Amino acid sequence: MTVLANAALIGGLIEACREVIAANADHLSELDRAIGDGDHGTNMRRGLEAVYADRSRLVQLPLPKALEETGLTLVMSVGGAAGPLYGTLLIEIGRRLVGANGEIDLARALEHAIDAVARRGRAGPGDKTLLDVLYPVHAEVVRRAGLAGISQQAERAASLTFGMRAMRGRAAFLGDRSVGHVDPGAKSCALLTAAICRFLEEQCPA
Ligand code: ADP
Ligand code: MG
Repeated sequence: MTVLANAALIGGLIEACREVIAANADHLSELDRAIGDGDHGTNMRRGLEAVYADRSRLVQLPLPKALEETGLTLVMSVGGAAGPLYGTLLIEIGRRLVGANGEIDLARALEHAIDAVARRGRAGPGDKTLLDVLYPVHAEVVRRAGLAGISQQAERAASLTFGMRAMRGRAAFLGDRSVGHVDPGAKSCALLTAAICRFLEEQCPA
């Protein structure tokens, strides 16, 4: 990552996330139609388009600040339950990314941010939400897995929500009928994780 200039890194991440959500918005809404209200793809696309529209300002900020500002934009633009949750994630990563000694500690920042998302959503592991992707992603980062490994785990974790019963969000109203469907938020989280990993891999091949 050190080889990438700050602006190219932030701009590339924004572009990669916007692209993957635009390409999969219909699929995400379809997943949400099965166990929610069918708007997850539209919500996420609106959010990523708002971030993209703000990119010339965001690329000029230091990475932690850019993450925080992106989170605020997502809170304001995504709508639905996912907006404040993704927003909290990025705001809190941004606030914690730089440790006391000035080093970037992604594992600790992620842990802190995921805790904040869990508190905000009053959700935990196995509740069939985007957290069911975030926890395994964090575990991979902690064990210093490569980008490809992180991305694979995220996809695998999203598919495992198929067998879970939703305990939080709209899908929880369905009770047992929520079993047998992939959670839309978990899927968007896996898609974003994979897009970020793919972008970083392209920039700095091992
Ligand atoms: P809404 O449910 O308000 O229509 P979205 O459709 O955009 O919002 O997002 C739904 C996704 O948000 C779910 O698939 C789930 O992953 C996530 N989600 C919903 N409620 C919670 C919660 N309380 N905690 C964690 N994640 C949640
Ligand atoms: Mg919805």
